[in-house]
Amino acid sequence: MAFTIAVDGPAASGKGTISKRLAQELGFAHLDTGLIYRAVGKRVLTGQEPLAAAQTLQAEHLEDDSLRTPEVALAASKVAVLSEVRAALTDFQRAFSRRDGGAVLDGRDIGTVICPEAEVKLFVTASAEARAERRFKELAGKGIETTFEEVFADIRARDERDMGRAEAPLKPAPDAVHIDTTDMSIEDAFAAAMARVRARQESA
Ligand code: C5P
Repeated sequence: MAFTIAVDGPAASGKGTISKRLAQELGFAHLDTGLIYRAVGKRVLTGQEPLAAAQTLQAEHLEDDSLRTPEVALAASKVAVLSEVRAALTDFQRAFSRRDGGAVLDGRDIGTVICPEAEVKLFVTASAEARAERRFKELAGKGIETTFEEVFADIRARDERDMGRAEAPLKPAPDAVHIDTTDMSIEDAFAAAMARVRARQESA
């Protein structure tokens, strides 16, 4: 049976961790849609045209550790403003969302554009400072050399581009449940998300 959980929010809000844990707990499939845009962004950095890069994207392009770098994130947010690129990536995401056995998708426009019919919609946020602090620690832990100021500036620039674009801007769906993780442990955030899913499953 299909059951879709749409999780949207800005970079480093905790949406990825919450999504992975939901999928694990529920036995659902998980798709990090940011990785799709990162893979297209990376292919553009190596000289491809954005639309061709999106149209010829393969699952194996998503398995690449270098997609997690700040340069690729920035390239992703640049290709993500292009409506033809977004359109080329829509069918794959929609098909994934309705697969048998349930699916969790996290991104920026899942509850608003890709899966407006999702059974559960979550919007996960945190202050820009808290998000930059988390991302800085994560990058430092991977040995990527950077400073807090640089990470903070990158996050702010991406927030602005993602929220300000005409096509599928980052915003909560009207019926999304908001989870602000600024002062919340990941355990509590996950529990809040799970409570919403259980309530929806019981009312089905
Ligand atoms: O989630 P992540 O930080 O990996 O996403 C990288 C970039 O991809 C975002 O800044 C955003 O511009 C774009 N993106 C998007 N729509 C999604 C997921 C990601 O536009 N559903």
